[in-house]
Amino acid sequence: MKISSDKVVTMNYTLTDNTGSLIDSSKEREPFSYIHGTGTIIPRLEEELEGMSTGETVNVNITAEEGYGARDESLMQDLPMERFSDVDDLKIGMQFQVEDGSDSYVFTVVNIEGENVTIDWNHPLAGIDLNFAIDVLEVRDATEEELDHCHVHTDDE
Ligand code: ZN
Repeated sequence: MKISSDKVVTMNYTLTDNTGSLIDSSKEREPFSYIHGTGTIIPRLEEELEGMSTGETVNVNITAEEGYGARDESLMQDLPMERFSDVDDLKIGMQFQVEDGSDSYVFTVVNIEGENVTIDWNHPLAGIDLNFAIDVLEVRDATEEELDHCHVHTDDE
């Protein structure tokens, strides 16, 4: 079966930057599944996967602009340490999720100096060219229920 709209695709992927450093790999967890054509993954990635079949592999190089966009330095913000009084051991690199109605945003702590904490609202992958190595493990039809919910159901769900 070939990858097209409304197919459930299961893959292993390894993501590296342009220096070859590992950013993320599904192999550290479990294979990643998504419904093709629903905008779940980066559009360029969907384009490249279209028409592929089980057992095929592909390398996809995605520029920062095609991925999570360029970095925006105006998205850096300084906060007083007291705003983090409920955090045990605040460290650089920690990420926090903030809910705003139905939206959620993630920021990363990028510097701590005395009582000043600098946070970054950029996506962690903004400004980074992304190199995906993908193994397509399975392609199947999505069920009505999955299409309804717009996400993949696994056995234990
Ligand atoms: Zn569901």
